[in-house]
Amino acid sequence: MRISQHKLVAENGEAAVSFVNSPNQSGVITPAYLIIHYTAGGSAQSSINWFQNPGANASAHLVIGLDGKITQMVPFNKKAYHAGVSSWAGLSGLNSYSIGIELDNPGKLKRVGNKWVSWFGVEYPESKVIIAKHKNQDTESGWHIFTPVQIEACIKASLAIYSHYKLKDILGHDDIAPGRKEDPGPAFPMASFKSRVKGRQEDHAAMFKTTGEGVRFRTGPGLNYDAAGKLKKGVTVEFIDNVMDWFHVKLAQPVAGISEPEGWVHSSLLGRV
Ligand SMILES: [Zn+2]
Repeated sequence: MRISQHKLVAENGEAAVSFVNSPNQSGVITPAYLIIHYTAGGSAQSSINWFQNPGANASAHLVIGLDGKITQMVPFNKKAYHAGVSSWAGLSGLNSYSIGIELDNPGKLKRVGNKWVSWFGVEYPESKVIIAKHKNQDTESGWHIFTPVQIEACIKASLAIYSHYKLKDILGHDDIAPGRKEDPGPAFPMASFKSRVKGRQEDHAAMFKTTGEGVRFRTGPGLNYDAAGKLKKGVTVEFIDNVMDWFHVKLAQPVAGISEPEGWVHSSLLGRV
């Protein structure tokens, strides 16, 4: 994908990007950050409809569906209304400094009996839900998964945006408004997403540290692969590549009990060094 006149354009072989203008925009901006959100809605179309309503006073530059379909609603050099009250690195009101991507996702889910239910009352099957603790919260909750095609579309769009506008960083809404917002939440593979999008701009190896005790060091990318051993908190590993949110890594130093230096760790258990 590439950017032309502040709009995202698909290259040959890529699915077309639709443009549906939102009235909820103003002023010219010079973006420095990319902000990732989820819509907390029932479908991409319902979010697109909402962002076309002047009374909503809300919008985003892009909306990406579970099927990977991308809709742009505000040109990238115009202010969209996605961040609200927010601050980061000495800046406040991040709408003036950022490009916002909304991923269609119902968000945090509640356990009701043996069902998972969204805030708007729709039930979701177990297969669409991960149970995880939000980095800003103390207890585990259910979170609706993002689909692989949705994440891939988000990566492709973000690669084009990040390099075209020479952005400084990628953040979650929960980074810039931590007391108020929990999107995109723990189901979004932020660490691997950042590595994929920012990786091309960095020529040194990406180093990570384990963020918990007893992190499984597996023989492949998934829970069904054996654990070759466990890593203590604070072990440094070098990123090799990834399959979605599973990182293929190399131990920076030998670790007792682990014979092979390479293995797989879930990216939610790793933090940037
Ligand atoms: Zn948000």
